[in-house]
Amino acid sequence: MKITLLGTGDTTGTPLVGCTCPICTEGAASGRERLRTSLLVEHEGFTLLIDTSPDLRRQLLQTGSPHIDAVIWTHGHYDHFAGFNDFYRVQRYPPGYGAPVVVEYMQNQFHFIRFTAHPQEPYVPFTLGGLTITLGEVNHPPAPTFGLLIEDGETRVGYTADTNPDIPQRTKDLLDGCDLFFADALFPNGIVHPKHMNYSEAVSLAGELHAKDFRLVHLSHKIGWDAPHIGYDGDTFVL
Ligand SMILES: [Zn+2]
Ligand SMILES: [Zn+2]
Ligand SMILES: [Zn+2]
Repeated sequence: MKITLLGTGDTTGTPLVGCTCPICTEGAASGRERLRTSLLVEHEGFTLLIDTSPDLRRQLLQTGSPHIDAVIWTHGHYDHFAGFNDFYRVQRYPPGYGAPVVVEYMQNQFHFIRFTAHPQEPYVPFTLGGLTITLGEVNHPPAPTFGLLIEDGETRVGYTADTNPDIPQRTKDLLDGCDLFFADALFPNGIVHPKHMNYSEAVSLAGELHAKDFRLVHLSHKIGWDAPHIGYDGDTFVL
């Protein structure tokens, strides 16, 4: 299994438009950037996209224009779905997977698009291209949001999606002991947000869940460019 981080930013991306903070200023000067968070998963010729960010067109171009065989949406927030129409005249719209409430939301949002919807019950594993996927509810009020476990028979990769640290125990059990774990870390230590983890909360969760390796994603412009444990756009992991 190969994972590519197509983006590691939050809903605004970094640099934040119009922001003159040191991190955005340095990013604009050096060309460093965090596109909106999305993951590409490749396994035995099958290519899976986790969330369709508003930056999807550029993310596809930057990764060699892969054909996407399926999409999984974690939740119905703009930064996680708005790019779906970027498949228009590029390829047939991929089939869309996710929890029933999320898939139904996407069918309403994209009522003008013909795509096949495949609602999946949380905590019930399903297979996609030789991968076993299991959705697990997280805590990102008020949007119903689902992290996921991806297994290829040898390795286990987990992703929290957007969430505060108060994750249901059933999902913690699902995501325990991953070989590679991605966690939402919006803000630096000291900033507590009702919908997201901050840096230390995300690092603590990775430890609590016995992740063998982890990267923090969905980073805001307040997280420094060289903070330990953060993921970078374009990072690839071959497992
Ligand atoms: Zn988000
Ligand atoms: Zn800034
Ligand atoms: Zn969100």
